[in-house]
Amino acid sequence: MYAPAPHGPLRQVLSGIASLGKGLWITLAYMFRRPITVQYPEQRVDLPLRFRGRLVMPIDPEKGTSRCTACMRCVRVCPNHSIDIEKAIDPGGSPISRPAKYRYNLGTCMFCNLCVEVCPFFALVMSDEHELATTDRSGLALDLVAEKHHLIGKKASWWQRKFRGPDSVE
Ligand code: SF4
Ligand code: SF4
Repeated sequence: MYAPAPHGPLRQVLSGIASLGKGLWITLAYMFRRPITVQYPEQRVDLPLRFRGRLVMPIDPEKGTSRCTACMRCVRVCPNHSIDIEKAIDPGGSPISRPAKYRYNLGTCMFCNLCVEVCPFFALVMSDEHELATTDRSGLALDLVAEKHHLIGKKASWWQRKFRGPDSVE
């Protein structure tokens, strides 16, 4: 059977000093490197385009409305049942291809992006909004139609290029 060789007290002390020196050397080396952390929230980094904050249904600037046709695919794919859609009704009382309400439960959403991926009309985007803590649960039940969200900046161009083509947006 294997038994480790016993170390004398002097060897243990020397090993401890070597280990301490190694730790201090690594600390010293990191002191002269550029920091990779920022002083959040005073300092903020640019979020990547694919960052997944909470869901929004942006207004398409060309159409002046959202791109949603109330096809229900996002409702069916959501593993947490966080989406519920009420279709709009025409004057004759028949449902039309537009949502009257798009209920999104931020409290149960796990930011998986499946609803965005399944949407054939690019009607949904996971926004950059990530400071979402609240003490009021009712603030987590959102109607994305009523919000009329206007996506801006780099994320807006990135989103519009998906359905207008790569050369369509600056
Ligand atoms: S991101 Fe995932 S959990 Fe959240 S609403 Fe979309 S499909 Fe549901
Ligand atoms: S968001 Fe997209 S997938 Fe969901 S109902 Fe509207 S068009 Fe269909």
